[in-house]
Amino acid sequence: MRYVLVLNCGSSSIKYRLVEVPSLETAAGGIVERVSDHAEGMRKVLAELEAAGPDLERVAVVGHRVVHGGTRYADPVVIDDAVERRIEELSPMAPLHNPVNLIGVRAAREVFPSVPHVAVFDTAFHQTMPPEAYTYAIPREWTAGGVRRYGFHGTSHAYVSRRAAEFLDRPYPEVNSIVLHLGNGASASAVEGGRCVDTSMGLTPLEGLVMGTRSGDVDPALAAFLARTRGLSVEEVDHALNHESGLLALCGHNDLREIWPLVDAGDPAAALAMEVYTRRARKYVGAYYAVLGRLDVLVFTAGVGENDPRTRAMILTGLENLGIVLDPEANTSPSRAPRVISAAGSPVTVLVVPTDEEREIAGQALAVTGLG
Ligand code: ADP
Repeated sequence: MRYVLVLNCGSSSIKYRLVEVPSLETAAGGIVERVSDHAEGMRKVLAELEAAGPDLERVAVVGHRVVHGGTRYADPVVIDDAVERRIEELSPMAPLHNPVNLIGVRAAREVFPSVPHVAVFDTAFHQTMPPEAYTYAIPREWTAGGVRRYGFHGTSHAYVSRRAAEFLDRPYPEVNSIVLHLGNGASASAVEGGRCVDTSMGLTPLEGLVMGTRSGDVDPALAAFLARTRGLSVEEVDHALNHESGLLALCGHNDLREIWPLVDAGDPAAALAMEVYTRRARKYVGAYYAVLGRLDVLVFTAGVGENDPRTRAMILTGLENLGIVLDPEANTSPSRAPRVISAAGSPVTVLVVPTDEEREIAGQALAVTGLG
């Protein structure tokens, strides 16, 4: 038995999973939280894995989630010192993520010096977007400096759109899909024959859908307006839009499991929050339908998308004339497996497909190293 070790190093936590080759089934996994020193955190990961039993000598490759790969990385890459430098160079684009991802990479390369380490980028899947999708209408020198739409959650969008085609037993290159990744962070993507052609997150993961604590789309003049009228600094606005906005700002909660009971109790702020949240998602469905021209499949995934039938139904309200017809019973089935939730005869097939970014990272790490 050989393994892929998948590491997702965040600012204060390290998620890890040991995946069996070639089945990609999970052998062990967990999360080390409240990490302040990532080298120390990595030692805890090792201790937990050793306690779980598997022989770490059998780790054949380590796959790392790295948030920003810029325009350079449309595919996973085996990490060497030059790749580490490039991940570092991209840090200004993802200041909360790339530096800690890199600390994880360096710590893991020290612990596992003799196996290949692979970086799998959150932006990679979206690199197929055409210029008209990724170009902002802004001064050219900004664009020349790298300001454009990159998109995030790419590993999830790639996995889920491919799994949807497999599940329906249709060739991936022939399926047009919209993926709604609705977790605490949330993003939509339009996937044409296996290639991403548009996505809702942009230069940073703030743009697009309403999220747990992020505003998603707002008037770009907002920061200037708040600076002029309230004297807020750029940092204050940035922090508020990322951490104090979204559902949390609208109703005081960012977890849907806490919001629905408030809606049912007649809380008007919670009701409005869900209207704002679902209307934004519905608008992206309409927009991406128009971009694709023909839509075969609409897929829900991540914490909200997989578990919350009420939100799914609300997002798709009134889309019957677009050929998107939900089956209320299938939608409320408690199944955890990939499943169809549209009505028989719905021109667009609506699916729930649980995402699995760790499995996708493991698969990509094996593919790029030829160790699968
Ligand atoms: P992250 O973006 O942190 O990876 P997840 O994809 O795990 O987030 O999604 C977390 C969110 O999913 C929670 O904030 C909550 O709103 C929602 N969620 C999780 N489980 C359920 C559930 N059973 N019913 C409704 N919403 C849920």
